[in-house]
Amino acid sequence: VPAARDRLRIAIQKSGRLGEPARALLASCGLSWRESRDKLFCYGETLPVDLLLVRDDDIPGLLADGVCDYGIVGRNVLEEFAAERAGGGKPAVSKEIRPLGFGGCRLDIAVPDAWEWEGPQQLQGKRIATSYPGLLAKWLAEQQVEAGVVMLSGSVEIAPRLGQADVICDLVSSGATLVANQLKPAVTIMQSEAVLAGPLQPFSDIRGELAQMLLRRLDGVLRLKD
Ligand code: ATP
Ligand code: ZN
Repeated sequence: VPAARDRLRIAIQKSGRLGEPARALLASCGLSWRESRDKLFCYGETLPVDLLLVRDDDIPGLLADGVCDYGIVGRNVLEEFAAERAGGGKPAVSKEIRPLGFGGCRLDIAVPDAWEWEGPQQLQGKRIATSYPGLLAKWLAEQQVEAGVVMLSGSVEIAPRLGQADVICDLVSSGATLVANQLKPAVTIMQSEAVLAGPLQPFSDIRGELAQMLLRRLDGVLRLKD
């Protein structure tokens, strides 16, 4: 059990697609911080709510270890972490608290343009390149399809052209990257967006009240954005 703390700590992406909108959303909840944005740690001024600026991939682990109380991260990253834990027989440690309405994308299976897509069974025995092995394995099991999973941490979309894989399972927003690589979306495994991730159970110390206040403000801001 992590030690009691009297400040809330929220992990957000340092740069990338979610960093700036995450910070802006928290600022619109009335938070402000002392450090400049290139620092790793931002000390909360208006409220005792601090930010940790990190790589998005590290956010679920920081939550799991109790280093941070909340995180703003893509559902895809949060669910991949949970799927990998579940695959290893480990219980969930955090959950999605709110969808945040930005960073929208899909985790799609994409196949070569020349394929006539007939459904998931077509993937039987094929090699699928992805950065999301946990989510892909879970989906394949649900579809009762056996396929090879080729784990790549980046440049997944060129794997078919390189002969590393037959198809890919990757994040898609506009689809331009797929087109550039002679691929087309075939089926969506997950709809994703940025989410507020947090603990399974409410905090039993002062962070509980802080968290409630933050969520009330967040809900007000999100309602206005709709
Ligand atoms: P980091 O340096 O923090 O590891 P990254 O390169 O892994 O950054 P980004 O490319 O900034 O991450 O993507 C962060 C999140 O943005 C993704 O996990 C996803 O939830 C969301 N996203 C929205 N659209 C896209 C897209 N077209 N491609 C990739 N991610 C997208
Ligand atoms: Zn990342």
